[in-house]
Amino acid sequence: LAAGAEVLHVDVMDGVFVPNEAMGPDIVCALREMTDGPLDVHLMVADPISQTKQFIQAGADSITFHVEAADDPAELITMLRRAGLGVGITLKPGTPVESLAEFIPLVDQVLVMTVEPGKGGQSFMPNMLDRIATLAAQLRDDQVLAVDGGITPTTAPLAAKAGATMFIAGSAVFSAGGDIAANIDALRAAATEGRA
Ligand code: ZN
Repeated sequence: LAAGAEVLHVDVMDGVFVPNEAMGPDIVCALREMTDGPLDVHLMVADPISQTKQFIQAGADSITFHVEAADDPAELITMLRRAGLGVGITLKPGTPVESLAEFIPLVDQVLVMTVEPGKGGQSFMPNMLDRIATLAAQLRDDQVLAVDGGITPTTAPLAAKAGATMFIAGSAVFSAGGDIAANIDALRAAATEGRA
């Protein structure tokens, strides 16, 4: 965040919903001690309702969960609201976009996975651009449309043009070489250009 990002996005993987296992509440707790800035936890776990409490306790400001994974997404949204958290909903690239419809009015953020969730360093799926545009048309002005996966200075403008308003990047920030702050600046400039 000191390097210019607006939100710290933490990918939590359980090795069940996605093949890899990474990040737990302990990491969120450690990050919470390092920053006052917004921490968004992206739960790629098989049973988000049972996992949520520990991430709330760890200090998450918002939780983004997979519609495929929650038995009762509306219940989870209510639970997060009661705890005062921001709410995001997301879906895998193969999940029909219609599965989000009834929940869209209830959330702060809709996140489009532009790679298969589960590991970093994959390439952006250009066939997700139609989905971004479809969702952009359904969101209110106060809702965020985020993209997650393969976001680089090349793909960010495409996503921005389709209607994305938040750009989540891992590799392009941390593994692109050079300075992290400069990498974030380059992404922001590219996204702004795409929107124009
Ligand atoms: Zn993520």
